[in-house]
Amino acid sequence: MGLPIVAIIGRPNVGKSTIVNRLAGGKDAIVYDEPGITRDRTYRPAYWRDREFLVVDTGGLVFDDDTEFLPLIREQAIAALKESKVAIFVVDGQAGPTSGDQEIASWLRQQQVPVFLVVNKCESPEQGTIQAAQFWELGIGEPFPVSGIHGSGVGDLLDEVVQHLPPTDDTEEIRETNVAIVGRPNVGKSSLLNAFLGENRAIVSPISGTTRDAIDTVVERDGKTYRLIDTAGIRKKKGVEYGPEFFGINRAFKAIRRADVVLLVIDALDGATEQDQKLAGRIAEEGRACVIVVNKWDAVEKDSYTLNEYERQLKNRLYFLEWAETIFVSALTGQRVAKILDLVDTAAEQHQRRVTTSVINEVLEEAISWHSPPTNRQGRQGKIYYGTQVRSQPPTITLFVNDPKRFNENYRRYIERQFRTALGFTGTPIRLFWRGKK
Ligand code: GDP
Ligand code: GDP
Repeated sequence: MGLPIVAIIGRPNVGKSTIVNRLAGGKDAIVYDEPGITRDRTYRPAYWRDREFLVVDTGGLVFDDDTEFLPLIREQAIAALKESKVAIFVVDGQAGPTSGDQEIASWLRQQQVPVFLVVNKCESPEQGTIQAAQFWELGIGEPFPVSGIHGSGVGDLLDEVVQHLPPTDDTEEIRETNVAIVGRPNVGKSSLLNAFLGENRAIVSPISGTTRDAIDTVVERDGKTYRLIDTAGIRKKKGVEYGPEFFGINRAFKAIRRADVVLLVIDALDGATEQDQKLAGRIAEEGRACVIVVNKWDAVEKDSYTLNEYERQLKNRLYFLEWAETIFVSALTGQRVAKILDLVDTAAEQHQRRVTTSVINEVLEEAISWHSPPTNRQGRQGKIYYGTQVRSQPPTITLFVNDPKRFNENYRRYIERQFRTALGFTGTPIRLFWRGKK
């Protein structure tokens, strides 16, 4: 999911934009183009300690005036509030409570979101407390005296605000990891599944009737649960209908879509085939994490350099998955089978990972210093203002730039490589969006 949204509400001239600038640290306004976020409002990324969120300024809210366009602004504010997790209601401490504040307050009291009452323009601490106290009468709760201009009081406010934001992805770790086992017929998918079941505790085995495309088995290891999505079992169950070589690629595609991590099983004797390339392409396209499992390693004649050479050739063919780890196993002897779930854990963690805006911008600054963005024939240079991670699963970073057209494929790949070099993301694809200024 995207970042939680904090809405700023209040009459005109109370200092809303000043406070937004303060929260967003002077960064440029952005129009986000992400699902679930309305296009015609301006969102700005902000963070406090390790929490990130978006701030949206709803525009001045006035109830007691029926100028032509006011209902529109009001609608905007109402819509903004609907998608927000927290509202910050700004009032003017020097002006004291007005009837306009009263109206907004009574409207806010009917809304579902938690509201923080912020009394702005309280520059002096002693006076601020007195100014703020007048606003208890709005019935919104404790007034927070702040000065948008000086920044005083804003930290205390944010400490409270972030506590009301929903937990981030990393607290979701109790959830089971969905692992799809895909590959051509006879590469050893069923044998691998059995090897897993032999080693780990099967909680429910197998779950039938949930889907016609795969059989799910839930196993537990070290307190973690994995839902193994097996596409081979179905063919075996319905052996009459499908010949042993039948490869239901659509089934594999559906399993990939349900997975967090895909085990792409390759037959060591055949190497990566065209069908494997198809699966690899789909895994990358769907943004799934992946571990490449080369099975039947016991049957390969080996000398000392085979493994490296083998892996190099394999990665050449499966270039879509250059970020994935490869493991050489034998379902028959059980060699290294236990290690597969370790790689699944790493890939799943990286897939869900969130990196703070400050770290992303450190990496960007470093990358730009080594290698500045290209200049086009008119002498105009590409400029990256900053980046922020807008989503995980897979990690998705939006880069705000002057003009996306000024960044060629080479430079884009360079930046992506820099993120990988600095931040890892082993086992997961990452996505970069290049957004121009509106
Ligand atoms: P908005 O219409 O609610 O977005 O308000 P603005 O942020 O544009 O501010 C309105 C006026 O209040 C401007 O003249 C600001 O300089 C002033 N202002 C904003 N914050 C403060 C503050 O903390 N203290 C004082 N004294 N003035 C402020
Ligand atoms: P699936 O169609 O992908 O589920 O493949 P199976 O698990 O049914 O295995 C196909 C064939 O490969 C069977 O004859 C297995 O015994 C054999 N096989 C599976 N894993 C290994 C392995 O690690 N080494 C060797 N030598 N044979 C294996």
